[in-house]
Amino acid sequence: MSEIVAGRGVALVTGGSRGIGAAAAVELARDGWNVGISYRTRADEAKRVVDACTELGRRAFAVQADVAEADDVEGLFDGVTAELGAIGAVINNAGIVSPSGRVDQYDVARLERVFRINSIGAFLVAGAAVRRMSTAHGGSGGVIVNVSSRASVLGSAGEYVDYASSKAAVDALTVGLANEVAKEGIRVLGIRPGLIETDIHEPGRLDRIGTTPPLGRPGTAHEVAALITFLASDRSSYMTGSTIDVAGGR
Ligand code: NAD
Repeated sequence: MSEIVAGRGVALVTGGSRGIGAAAAVELARDGWNVGISYRTRADEAKRVVDACTELGRRAFAVQADVAEADDVEGLFDGVTAELGAIGAVINNAGIVSPSGRVDQYDVARLERVFRINSIGAFLVAGAAVRRMSTAHGGSGGVIVNVSSRASVLGSAGEYVDYASSKAAVDALTVGLANEVAKEGIRVLGIRPGLIETDIHEPGRLDRIGTTPPLGRPGTAHEVAALITFLASDRSSYMTGSTIDVAGGR
């Protein structure tokens, strides 16, 4: 991808231990950022990502944190700031899908889990970012990139309408928050990945529907990371409030 550039500051990637988050962490390091990542359970995976970033000549640090827990989120931001310095970009990426099923089969536990992590977690991370980056709070500004899903528009009928709805909340967060903090040095952007090859999918799903995107294949985590890296940088300096599809035409 792009050649290594001079330092840009500190980027924080939630769910950075694997999949899209891991690819974003490494591409951000290549693009000049020192990188903090959060992981939930797999310290070994997080260490591999930290090592890949340090091999690119950057500083990197991993913190265990559940984005659905406010104390964990505060600890994540404080830990990364103490280790690497003030955070200038936050990639609000951690998320889960639900098992396949129709709306009339969902129970409260399932709904609480997906909204708690994907919607409330995204709000907790965005709020923590604003409290540290906003010039109104004494910060130096920055960028928040919210990872939504093409599902938020398509609805995911028969699979997980709850997941799609939890990501629609992220789309509204992007445009609403962007307007709240535009004059406080913070830009807020979103991305909607389509079908991307990661471990998030139920076994067999990618084989079953992998050729259905108009481009005829699933995307890779690196193709999503390229967009995240662009949005996090000052190359997107006149953009805020937008959510961009990276979905192979889906
Ligand atoms: P993944 O399962 O490979 O990675 C998800 C990451 O989120 C992991 O690092 C996991 O530990 C972390 N995570 C999950 N729950 C967490 C919690 N409560 N607290 C902290 N971290 C948590 O999946 P991925 O495909 O890389 O997904 C990344 C993001 O992209 C998600 O928000 C997902 O909804 C979104 N997305 C993925 C696709 C796709 O096809 N892969 C499509 C659209 C959107």
